[in-house]
Amino acid sequence: MQLDVSSMAVACSALATLVALILFAARRSFEPDVHASLTIWATALLFVVLSSAPFAWAMATTLPVIIVGNSSLVVGYTGFAMALRRFMARPLPLPMYLLPLLAVVTGTVVFSTVMPSYSLRVAVVIVFLLLVQTTLIRPVFHALHRGGEVGQRVVALSFLASIIALIVRLLWEWRPPALDSSWLADADIIGLHMLLIWMTPVVGSIGFLLMCNERLMRVTRTLAETDALTGISGRRTILQRSENALRDAERSGRPMSVLMIDADHFKCVNDQHGHEAGDAVLVELVQRLRAVLRSHDVIGRMGGEEFLVLLPDTGERAALEVAERLLAAMRVAPIRHNGISVTMTLSVGVASLHVHDANLDALIRRADAALYAAKAAGRDCALSAA
Ligand code: GH3
Ligand code: MG
Ligand code: MG
Repeated sequence: MQLDVSSMAVACSALATLVALILFAARRSFEPDVHASLTIWATALLFVVLSSAPFAWAMATTLPVIIVGNSSLVVGYTGFAMALRRFMARPLPLPMYLLPLLAVVTGTVVFSTVMPSYSLRVAVVIVFLLLVQTTLIRPVFHALHRGGEVGQRVVALSFLASIIALIVRLLWEWRPPALDSSWLADADIIGLHMLLIWMTPVVGSIGFLLMCNERLMRVTRTLAETDALTGISGRRTILQRSENALRDAERSGRPMSVLMIDADHFKCVNDQHGHEAGDAVLVELVQRLRAVLRSHDVIGRMGGEEFLVLLPDTGERAALEVAERLLAAMRVAPIRHNGISVTMTLSVGVASLHVHDANLDALIRRADAALYAAKAAGRDCALSAA
């Protein structure tokens, strides 16, 4: 094998510079916190590019060149740790990030002038790079334990490969003389090690960008699924979950019911106390309903002051009992907000899955009909569908 370190440095630094520019450009799709983490990461990548410059330009190994090369490599990797820990909301105190730089600059100067030793100089850089990379991947491994996503896996694996390369390089530098006659040349080990040191950040950057994207997707999905005012499932989500529950019930032959709930005379609340008070009443109303529901029941907002409750594994009698509990939760006391007091009641239509229900629409239509019957019966009551 013949690895030309200078060509590798040129290729890797061109690639890393392009990736850094892409990361800078991609930042605007993200929230301020992720934006800041990406800025730190992309800047760190440029420091790694700087560290490869002495190799790319075949510069003379003078002390200033070695200091700039080593410290920019450590600053780059520390930057990745800083970006990742900020992203995962587990930042470290600033001195922790400065320590590796100070140690590497001191070590480089001491082992180049006072006690010249190439092996010790290499050892200091490697030991602190190892320290930084362990700090970097620890929170990622924690997250992976809880079931990680692709981005986290890419980051973890790329930096793990780099850690292994560093350990091999350290062992090689301090190998017993007997190994010198082996088939591997010194230049190959150093070349492979340098390749990994420069390539890891490029692959890791792809992983980090994926992590940012995955977070954005998660936030967007939650927003799309949740009702902004009350925090419960929105219309689309509750219908989707009901559809799934219906399929499960049909497959297993177990019962299932739904409750269609509508707040009584809600328009009066808005008319008397204003829309903002109406909103607060809706929030409190939902809290009361949730407190009464069992953990496997699901409530969603169909729109306005209308809610759908999905009751898996529940037959008609038990569903009516749940409905009565919901009515009682509203009767227990008026809802108070900012000095106003609103007595709120509900009308509830109960429908249990029937062999004649062709689909979810049919079941919900029956619950709706029962709800209108409850309204007609004077409100503040629950009626079961025919
Ligand atoms: P009924 O007993 O027949 O259901 O009477 P109601 O007044 O509750 O029914 P109606 O459909 O006439 O009015 C519903 C009201 O709910 C009108 C609407 O302004 C109000 N509303 C719907 N969504 C919201 C909301 O998000 N916030 C507030 N404050 N009011 C809402
Ligand atoms: Mg109403
Ligand atoms: Mg209504």
